[in-house]
Amino acid sequence: MNNRWSEEEAKGLSDLDLLVYQSRLIGADPALVLWGGGNNSLKVTQTDFRGRAAKTMLIKGSGSDMKSAQARDFPAVRLDDVLSLFIRSDMTDEAMVEYLEHCIMDPGSPRPSIETLLHAFLPQASIVHTHADAILSLTNTREPQEALRGAFGNDVVWVSYRRPGFLLSKETALEALKRPGAKGMVMLNHGLVTWGPTPKASYDAHIELVTRAEEFIHQRAAGKLVFGGTKVPAIPREERQRVAAAVAPVLRGLLTPPGGPRLLLRFDDSDDILAWAGSRAVRELAEAGAATPDHLLSTKRTPLLVEVSDPSYAGELRRAMTKGVARYRESYAEWYSRYSHDPAAMRDPNPRVILVPGLGMWVTGRDTRAMTVVSDIYHHTTSIVAGAQSVGEYASLSEKDAYEAEYWPLEMYKLTLLLPERELARRVAVVTGAARGIGKAIARRLAQEGAHLVMTDIQPQSLQEAADEINHEVDAGRCIAVPLDVTSPDMVHAAFRQAALAFGGVDILVSNAGIAPTGTLDQISIADWQRSLDVNATGHLLVAREAMRIMREQGMGGSLVFIATKNVTAPGRGFGAYSAAKAAEAQLARVLAIENGAYGIRSNIINPDAVFQDSGLWSQELREERARAHGIPVSELEEFYRQRNLLQAFITPGDVAEAALFLASDRSAKTTGCIITVDGGVPEAFPR
Ligand code: ZN
Repeated sequence: MNNRWSEEEAKGLSDLDLLVYQSRLIGADPALVLWGGGNNSLKVTQTDFRGRAAKTMLIKGSGSDMKSAQARDFPAVRLDDVLSLFIRSDMTDEAMVEYLEHCIMDPGSPRPSIETLLHAFLPQASIVHTHADAILSLTNTREPQEALRGAFGNDVVWVSYRRPGFLLSKETALEALKRPGAKGMVMLNHGLVTWGPTPKASYDAHIELVTRAEEFIHQRAAGKLVFGGTKVPAIPREERQRVAAAVAPVLRGLLTPPGGPRLLLRFDDSDDILAWAGSRAVRELAEAGAATPDHLLSTKRTPLLVEVSDPSYAGELRRAMTKGVARYRESYAEWYSRYSHDPAAMRDPNPRVILVPGLGMWVTGRDTRAMTVVSDIYHHTTSIVAGAQSVGEYASLSEKDAYEAEYWPLEMYKLTLLLPERELARRVAVVTGAARGIGKAIARRLAQEGAHLVMTDIQPQSLQEAADEINHEVDAGRCIAVPLDVTSPDMVHAAFRQAALAFGGVDILVSNAGIAPTGTLDQISIADWQRSLDVNATGHLLVAREAMRIMREQGMGGSLVFIATKNVTAPGRGFGAYSAAKAAEAQLARVLAIENGAYGIRSNIINPDAVFQDSGLWSQELREERARAHGIPVSELEEFYRQRNLLQAFITPGDVAEAALFLASDRSAKTTGCIITVDGGVPEAFPR
């Protein structure tokens, strides 16, 4: 393990900044801590609000992440108040949290870490605690003491597994005090604590011990098949992606209770996952349980393992998934009821990790961040298991300890810190023609309401820029850019495959991509006419057909939104190829409404007029042509269109986006086969 400390960078930092620096160094290494795991502290003398010197401890706040730590994430607690707890024999978690609230120096601070007492009771100034993979590989074995002695000799003390809280803190301190020469403390099935007079000293000790653990595992791994060798070899990559995309919507539907919160799914067929899932020992090892209590909050105690005789056959996999998910839920409920008498308090019984030997893994979550957390933790779980199998046999928490970890009120408190969900949270929207203008505005609006976006456009460069821009504005990673020519059935199929692999399916389609060829019908080339039909009519069918198939597989309904035009109800001269094709689009949308009502899939149309801002449709050529058709100078064109509508309004992409949001969301749950105009009111274009 790499020691990242730089004297240069640490020079001259204040105590608090040094603690932030130390935290980020630890957080930068995912083999030490992941997503909210681990914590560090520093005992200092501060001046209190009345100007008196006070011995305090700066400690990481509950729920913050070490890799992105900031000064405000470290509340200070009065050490004298905390240390007076040491003489007690026990204390409930609730009493401990309440007591600590009174020890905080600055009333506005975040809640201090659940492990505050553990830090406070140790006498050294600087304390570091992580859940390092290599340490867990040693402790999560049937003979952990032997593994620890092998790696560390007598340099560390250890304590048995116990859920964090008063007793673990006191026990840890008492053990450490018995052996003042020890370099650190290992908590079985949990992690490592090191200490020192300075942040550098405790950090160095941490890296040294983790490195020794890694080297010990490496020596013991030589010549071993840690997962017992391959049982199911991976099918070819192209096959994996095809099957996974076909099965994902079914799985997503299975995991979503009727009317209940939807989940997103991400497919992962990286080499380490394929080796793990396809191994002989995967069932036994996966069912042994998660590596630490904080891991199982994200991944659950066990994954769902779905075994089939032929992973390249989607039909068999669908059936096996259906049975597997039902069985997983039943056994979760049984496990829960063994330790709890309150059925109402049971949390989501669905798996967060689904493994298919030969194919790969799905992780589930409410958004991309949640899926990334589950995915990162599970990848590390496999390497912890591999390490444990190198030095002995992998073992995990007992079922009861796992229950107490998953339903620990203090961990559940962290869940209350999550932001409330937005209207389109957990939904996936595909928007075509999303690089600019109306499509981009719609993508942005849906993303603002929490949707995950697959943005497509024929211009890859500006599409990527648009997706980056929206990702920057909302939560990074919720939008992906997929270059697409809507006239190519293969490309359309591939784009929806990507939606299924990245998010598990599709809930909303906004079919917007279009072109605007001009010319009177006696003059227009057949090539232009055909091109307009290909993009403005057939293109909509191709995307709608893929979306519809996925939505039906999911069984959760869906919304198709077609961006048509005022010309559908009120065509003008010189624009025939466009108007005829757009009329076909509108009729297509209505037939889709008729054919999909039974599946809860709605299909609606928006007729905008004269949206110039950021438009890819309104080329200079089109402006000139339309100005000629209306007998006005080009410079007056936008004003001409404004004057033409009843409200005398300029129509913006944002106006169209509001209508699209309405039709995409459950606000319009009872509306299908409908046209909404966004044109400022053009009487001859009133839908009828
Ligand atoms: Zn911990």
